[in-house]
Amino acid sequence: MSENITNNTKAYAIFGNPVEHSKSPQMHNSAFEHLSIDAVYKKHHLKDGKKLKNEFLNNLYSGANITVPHKEQAFKQADEVIGIANEIEAVNTYIKKDDKVIAYNTDAPGFLKAIESFGDIKKVLVLGAGGTAKAIALALQQKDIEVTVVNRSDSKLDFFKQKNIKCFTWKDFRLDYFDLVVNSTSAGLKDDELPMSKPQLENVFLNSSYAFDCVYGKETPFLALAKKEGLKTKDGEDMLLYQGLLAFELFTNTKADNSVVEAMRKGLRGE
Ligand code: NDP
Repeated sequence: MSENITNNTKAYAIFGNPVEHSKSPQMHNSAFEHLSIDAVYKKHHLKDGKKLKNEFLNNLYSGANITVPHKEQAFKQADEVIGIANEIEAVNTYIKKDDKVIAYNTDAPGFLKAIESFGDIKKVLVLGAGGTAKAIALALQQKDIEVTVVNRSDSKLDFFKQKNIKCFTWKDFRLDYFDLVVNSTSAGLKDDELPMSKPQLENVFLNSSYAFDCVYGKETPFLALAKKEGLKTKDGEDMLLYQGLLAFELFTNTKADNSVVEAMRKGLRGE
C-alpha cells in the first residue's frame, strides 16, 4: 500500500457486510504498488445498502467494488449501468466519471476468463440460483453456451425462466450430459456439504468432463468428489482474480499485462 498518502492519492474501496475477509484490497494495492500508481484501496464496512452511493461520493472514492449483500442495491443506485450488468441487475464495480456513478458487473466476464483454460465448452450445468449463478448463467448464455440451472428450492428460479434459461429444482432435474458443472452455491464454503445429493452428483459427473467451484482457497466436497470421478477441476481463485483485474482496468483506464495479473495474484495469496 502507498505509504505517502497525499491530496493527489486516489482512493478506492470495497463495500460489503461483512467485508473484513475481503482479499480485494490486497489484490488492488499490490497492482497499484507494482505500477507505482499513487492510489490506495480500503475496506469499507457498510451495513445499510441504501446509503451506498452517498458513502461512495462523500468519501471521494474514484472507484469501488461492491460485494455481498449490496450488489443489487448498487445496481439500483447507479447513474449509468454498462453492459451485461443490465441483464444481471446487480453490479460489483463503481467508477466515478464527471460526478456520475457508472456501474459494471465484472463477475460475469471474470468467470468466463476463469474457465477459458478448460477449452471449448458447449453445455454447462450451474448449481445454485443466487447472485453469482445469475451472473454466470447470463455470461454463458451471451456466449451462446447452453445453460441449465438447478437449485435446492424453487424460490429463485423465476429470474432464469424470464431469461429463457432452463431451470429445475433437485426434484424435477433430469440427468443429461454436460461439459462443465459449476458449483455456485455456498455449500462447502463454511461447511462440508455438497450442493446436491451425492448420488445425483455422481450421476452428473459420470457424463461430464470439468468441474468448477466458485469457492476458493480450499478443496470443497464438490471438487473432491469431481476429482474422484476423474473430472478436471478448478476452484474460484481465478474468478476472483479476473473480476478484480477487469475492475482494475476500469479504475486505471489501462489494459493490464501479465505482470499486473501476477502482482494481483500474489496480493490475493498474501505472498
Ligand atoms: P447467494 O446467497 O446469493 O446464493 C446461494 C445459493 O446457494 C442459493 O441458490 C442457495 O439455494 C444455495 N445453497 C446454499 N446452501 C446450500 C446447500 N447447503 N446446498 C445446496 N444449495 C445451497 O450466494 P452468492 O451467489 O452470492 O454466492 C455463492 C457462492 O459463490 C459463495 O460460496 C461465494 O463465496 C461464491 N462466490 C465466489 C466468487 C469468486 O470470485 N470466486 C464471487 C462471488 C461469489 P436456495 O435458493 O435453495 O437457498
